[in-house]
Amino acid sequence: MSTSAPAGSEEVVDALCVDGLESLTGPHLLRASDSDRAPHPYLPHRKHHSIMRVIDAARIRASFINVSVRERKSLVLPDLSAVAWDRIDYLGWRDPKLPRVGYVVVIVDDEPVGIMLTQTEASPRSRTQCVWCADVQLPNDVVLFSAKRAGAAGRRGDTVGTYACAAFECNANVRRKPRTAYIGFDVEAARQARIAALGANVERFARDVVSTA
Ligand SMILES: [Zn+2]
Repeated sequence: MSTSAPAGSEEVVDALCVDGLESLTGPHLLRASDSDRAPHPYLPHRKHHSIMRVIDAARIRASFINVSVRERKSLVLPDLSAVAWDRIDYLGWRDPKLPRVGYVVVIVDDEPVGIMLTQTEASPRSRTQCVWCADVQLPNDVVLFSAKRAGAAGRRGDTVGTYACAAFECNANVRRKPRTAYIGFDVEAARQARIAALGANVERFARDVVSTA
């Protein structure tokens, strides 16, 4: 969706609300319940370019760019009412029935882009860093995922691979306070920089999967 009104203005917010209601599928989706969440379901602009916002189930399902008709119908969505939308840079979840399959939804050019991933058989020989959150403390398993490219390229078997946190823990990883490196080290600035880097990294990956060149 695009709009010419300035970011964060009431007009933009209202327009987004109406737009979101068109495909609303559950009573919980526009509810701002918890006090630590943003008071409005659509979030103010952040400085970096990957801006996550509340996305309803129908739009998430429609956003997938590398699935078959059957896969789109059968893909299992997470509990969207439990998602802390203001604390994620991408939405990621594993399929509860297909142990090798995972899904991510990334905002690219203001539109959600859903990507189905398959964890490859090969496990990393040593602890490997996640390409997206680049967490140096390696707090969780990092695995190699493979994503079919969109469109004809994907149907021909063209894939994009990436190392990423096995259960997509990146959002939590970058929001932890980094270890203080030296006296005067700006912990909050470092944290914000990691959050921005995660947004940029997942967006780069999504653009790579979208690209069929
Ligand atoms: Zn990660």
